[in-house]
Amino acid sequence: MLGVDAVDIALAERIAAVRERVGDAALAAGRDANGVTVVAVSKTMPRSAVDEAVSLGLTHFGENRVQEAREKFAEPLPPGASLHLIGQLQSNKARHACQLFACIESVDRLSLVDTLAAEAAKTERLMPVLIQVNLAGEAQKAGCSPEDAVALARRIMGTECLRLDGLMTIAPLVADAEETRPVFRGLRELRDQLRDDLLGQDLPVLSMGMSNDFAVAIAEGATHVRIGRAIFGER
Ligand SMILES: *Cc1c(COP(=O)(O)O)cnc(C)c1O
Repeated sequence: MLGVDAVDIALAERIAAVRERVGDAALAAGRDANGVTVVAVSKTMPRSAVDEAVSLGLTHFGENRVQEAREKFAEPLPPGASLHLIGQLQSNKARHACQLFACIESVDRLSLVDTLAAEAAKTERLMPVLIQVNLAGEAQKAGCSPEDAVALARRIMGTECLRLDGLMTIAPLVADAEETRPVFRGLRELRDQLRDDLLGQDLPVLSMGMSNDFAVAIAEGATHVRIGRAIFGER
């Protein structure tokens, strides 16, 4: 009993600390903290940890593997809580992804747009998506190049069942979070440029920033921060 309570308290304290740091970062940037959504990244964590986090008020959860998420969320989340896919999506998992996730943040190629559009049409739902951009050009990272983003955006906008909400990126892992600033700024500038190129498309969402660097991302306009370890502890 003692052990279980101790876990609850640690999670509650970490969530409170993250909320405070998100609030401070928003305030420092002259932004409203309500404009920043925390997506709690629950990959590798058990369902019990997610349920505790829901009971502590978190509403958005991020998973990077479709199969893991299917098993973990065989019992759906309560109304008001939702799942984001933040990891690379293979086309053969697109159907399950459309059934399970409220947003697919990792759209990175034209063929995936076509597959997702077909699957979303079958489930008769409007599927919100983000384009994942590999801004730093890191060879091992997923995401399209900034140059390819406009073609992807046009393709998504040409579908009936996908809704393009914005962009997502993962910054390089660096010792000093400040070094990630050009990446986050670059994603915001790319969004602004796309907004101008694609007349009439708002693209409100910028999903950027993780446990190490979310304060810098918020300073550069993040609307969604994907936070794993700072909430659930080390994996
Ligand atoms: C794991 C992961 C995160 C969270 O990383 P932490 O360092 O645990 O905060 C965020 N985004 C993506 C795409 C991830 O895979």
